[in-house]
Amino acid sequence: MNIAMPNLIFFNNFAPIMHELSIAANIIEIVEEFAQSHKATRINKVELIVGKLSGVVRDSLEFALEFAVKDTILEDAEILIEEVDGKSKCNLCKTEFVNNDWYTACPACSSMDSDILEGKELKVKSIFFD
Ligand SMILES: [Zn+2]
Repeated sequence: MNIAMPNLIFFNNFAPIMHELSIAANIIEIVEEFAQSHKATRINKVELIVGKLSGVVRDSLEFALEFAVKDTILEDAEILIEEVDGKSKCNLCKTEFVNNDWYTACPACSSMDSDILEGKELKVKSIFFD
């Protein structure tokens, strides 16, 4: 039999998302600054773009945001996360291809020598407010 300790469960779930928590805090800061400078009274929706090469785990970010928005201007806002594929361009044959793990070889010539074009972004795309 296993008796769950609430505190322990909290920490077990929590430790892996420290990175996402600081990002969530960052996002809230950006939105709060925006609200101030636009005299917004209410934030209805925020759209985020998270590249698959950004190093941020979408589920962890959602969980971190759920926790972090309490008592902030984002508490009742809808938060949408749009994931963007990683994209690379081969330095040998110039083929562009989807690369979601940094290690994908060029599908045309198998070269590993490529540059990342997209997928590292992590940003607030739009803010809907009253
Ligand atoms: Zn190639």
